[in-house]
Order: sequence, then structure tokens, then C-alpha cells
Amino acid sequence: MTTNNPKSIIVIFGATGDLAKRKLFPSIFRLYRSGKLSEDFAVVGVARRPLTNDEFRDNVKKSIGNLQEGNVSAETFSSHFYYHPFDVTNVASYQELKSLLGDLDGKYHTEGNRIFYLAMAPEFFGTIGENLKSEGLTSTGGWSRLVIEKPFGHDYESAKELNDQIRHVFTEDQIYRIDHYLGKEMVQNIEVIRFANPIFESLWNNQYISNIQITSSETLGVEDRGRYYESSGALRDMVQNHMLQMVALLAMEPPIKLKTEEIRSEKVKVLRALRNMSEDEVDEYFVRGQYGRGIVNEQEVPAYREENSVDPESNTETFVSGKLMIDNFRWAGVPFYIRTGKRMTKKSTEIVVQFKDLPMNLYVEKDKAIHPNLLVIHIQPEEGITLHLNARKGEGSTTSTPIKLDYCNNCDDKMNTPEAYERLLYDCMRGDATNFTHWDEVALSWKFVDTISRAWTNKKAENFPNYESGSMGPKESDALLAKDGLHWWSVEADTHSRSE
Ligand code: NAP
Repeated sequence: MTTNNPKSIIVIFGATGDLAKRKLFPSIFRLYRSGKLSEDFAVVGVARRPLTNDEFRDNVKKSIGNLQEGNVSAETFSSHFYYHPFDVTNVASYQELKSLLGDLDGKYHTEGNRIFYLAMAPEFFGTIGENLKSEGLTSTGGWSRLVIEKPFGHDYESAKELNDQIRHVFTEDQIYRIDHYLGKEMVQNIEVIRFANPIFESLWNNQYISNIQITSSETLGVEDRGRYYESSGALRDMVQNHMLQMVALLAMEPPIKLKTEEIRSEKVKVLRALRNMSEDEVDEYFVRGQYGRGIVNEQEVPAYREENSVDPESNTETFVSGKLMIDNFRWAGVPFYIRTGKRMTKKSTEIVVQFKDLPMNLYVEKDKAIHPNLLVIHIQPEEGITLHLNARKGEGSTTSTPIKLDYCNNCDDKMNTPEAYERLLYDCMRGDATNFTHWDEVALSWKFVDTISRAWTNKKAENFPNYESGSMGPKESDALLAKDGLHWWSVEADTHSRSE
């Protein structure tokens, strides 16, 4: 791993697309603004649209418009950007790209270091990789790295096929599979909260933890992504990657060192310990949902089946909740509940760790349960931790009342918290792959999820739509926990309320 200010050329395939505009250009600018990039970098955009360098630079300037501050010049920044239009399926064009990269290497002293960022539909990944290799773009005096966006395959078989294609050109340590959740501040903080605090780590097991709940809810519907979403659904779009990654970080053993291989290998062990279900057992552990009409942010919104490019009889799930069991010594008997969906009450990602009750509690009012201790990790939009404890209710009282200790990470300096893409790009430039997914993780996650998708594809959901937009999902999702004598903590768990 190198630690100096990285020098490289970033080639963005799909440079006129949404991801480049909304995430990549602003992230590169933030790195530049914070001094993490030297002047020795260049960005080459590739897409079919016939733009000149100046038009491309105008697009870049527009996308960073509101980020400019101080004396950082958007003009100087955007002068590092070049545009090279071609159809990525056209092998002949790669020679021209090669010659441009050679020239820029000389101009920016980038020493042959290249990041190939594939911000394009996955069906192009294999072709681009093959062409980069056959035309000699990966053979330079420096390093070459490949960054790949989700979705990485559609199921285990297609992911393996894609991986085999890419591995033909790049070695595993050159491949950076993005899961942008792994770039989020509080997701990266999970390890620190666990492994830097004896009061948590010593209780972090099945003797003291009752259950762990992870909720990632959105208020948006599918917007204009109906076509993509119809072939994906919440299970593939959220569970296979982001949700299982968070489970792995919460459940893994302490790594022997803070090294990429050590951390990844502990995560892989968690994924290997996930209890597999047969297709017949899926209904016992997982609930699917699809939103109907409803009210979100005081606006009436249509049902999923009424959205653009969506089949009016669609069987696609926009909500998933599930109970995962991790069959190892630490977690035997502790359910990890996950839930994610669109058009829910609130946009929020949060983890609630519920500790077990004491065998007997002296400070309880008659017929009332004591509030359990909860550790809430707020991932987004708020970033922070809340610890729920019990304290004396008042002068002379023999009962307790819930109190909370709050830490907010992004309240004071929201503007300066690096964004997930910014962190991940910087990691990639420095050759740190810790917060990217290894193939073994991808393969195990797909194998786990494939059983569920097979069960759901083979059996049409009779009750869709089964939750109102603006709610926290179908009632079956609440029943999943109720049968274990539990309930979901609300997305505002700090209000001590239930989600219903
Ligand atoms: P998009 O807006 O549809 O952009 C696709 C890009 O590919 C455009 O720049 C398009 O430009 C280019 N392109 C298409 N066919 C081409 C060809 N044959 N040769 C050269 N260029 C071609 O897609 P996106 O939303 O940016 O998403 C890109 C990737 O990131 C996808 O894999 C997506 O799943 C993933 N992703 C996106 C987001 C997001 O927030 N947008 C989030 C997570 C993951 P021309 O039309 O000019 O050729």
C-alpha cells in the first residue's frame, strides 16, 4: 500500500452518465479541494456522446458548482479533465485512448498509474476488460486498477461468469468492487465502536445480546429506474450487498491486524456461517413486500405497479425483511433482523443492538417491563451513536426511567465529512482495498440470496401490493419478530417507540 499523495490517471467509462455527474466528479473535486490530490492527476471521460474537451469540462464545472469555496479554482481543476468519445465495444478506438493516456502520463507525471472506473451498465464490464488487455492499456510501467459498480451479477452464476471474465485481465488485488455503504463514516465506525471499547466488545455475544436489527429505509419510490428495478428488486439491490456487508461487520471476530486480508477473511467467515435455508423454509425467515399507494412527505404517491416501466402485475419486491442466524460460537441463538424498502416512513439507515434483560430488575413499576439497553448506530442521514440506559426516575423514586447518551458525528461539521465515494476513490488511489468487496464475499452473499430469490420467483406473491406507501412495510414484517417475542425498534429508536 502506498501512502504518498497518489498520482494517477482516472479513466471513467460512462462519463456522461448520472453516477459520474452526481458522485464521481464532486468526489474528485473534494479530494482536490482538501489537498489529497496533487496537481499530478488527470481524468479521462469515455462515452459515446460527441463532446469536446471544453464541453466536458463545462459539465464537470456544473456538477461541482456548489462545492467551490476559497481560492480553489474550478477552472484549474477542470483543466485536468479530458474527453474521449467512443463506443466501448469498438476495439479499434482503444488504441487512440492508449495514445492519449501515454501523452497525459508525460504531462502529469502519473508514471503509468491508471484507474479504470466502470460507471456503465454491467454488460459492458467484460468487453471493456478484454479490450483494455488486448490493446495493451494495462501494460504500463505503473499500476492498473479496475473499479466496478454494482450490480455485480444478477445471481451467483452470472456474478461468477462476470468475475471469470474480469479475472482473465485483472488479478483479484487489482479489482475494486464498490459497495458504497462501506465508504460511509458510521459503517467504517462499526469496527472501531466494537474493537476500541471494552464495554461493548466484552458484551458482544450471545450471552448479553438479545438481537440486532438493521433497517435501511427510503422514502423514494423507483423514480425513473423502473426498468432496472423490475429485474432487480430490493433483495438483489440492497440485501445481497449493503445489508449483508453490515451484518458481516457487526458479527465478525476481531481481525488479528487492521490489514485488508485479515478484515476480509473475518467477514468471509461470517458469511460462511449464515444459516442456509431450503426454498421451503424461506417464508419462515423472510418477508417480501411491494408498496401500494399512500402518502409520503404529505404527498400522495402511486403504487409500485403504477410506476413507469413497471409491469402492472409485477411480482418484484420493493421491501424485504428477514431473520438471519449465524451459526457460530459467538452468535448461536441471536437473530439478526434486517429490513429495507422503498416508500417507507422515513429515509434512514440505522442499527439497533438490543441487550438482554437482567434476570431480575428491582426498579420496575408493577406490570411494566424495564426498557432494554440499546446501542443505536445511526448510519445516515444522521451519523452518530445513541446508548439507551435506565436511571432513577426522580427524587425518592424506586423505579427507573429510560435515558439516552447521544453522540452526533455530523452535527457540527457536516460540510467537511468526506462522502462515501470520495473515501473509496482515495482508498483505491492509495491501493487500499479494505472497504471494497472481495470475490469470496460476493460469491457467498449471492449463494445465500439466490435461495430466497428462487423461492420468490417460483411462487408469485398473491397479496401484492401489501404495504401502504409511507408505512414501515407489511404487517408480516412485524409478525416475523412478534413470533420471537420481539418488535422492531422504530427508525427513530431514540424516541423509545415501536415502529407500528
Ligand atoms: P447512466 O446514467 O445510464 O450512464 C451510462 C453511461 O454509459 C453514459 O455515460 C453513457 O453515455 C455510457 N454508455 C452507454 N453505452 C455506451 C457504449 N456502448 N460506449 C460508451 N459509452 C456508453 O448510468 P449511471 O446511473 O451513471 O450508472 C452507471 C453504473 O453505475 C451502472 O452499473 C449502475 O448500476 C451503477 N450505479 C449507479 C448509481 C447511481 O447513483 N447512478 C448508483 C450505484 C450504482 P453515452 O450515452 O454518451 O454513450
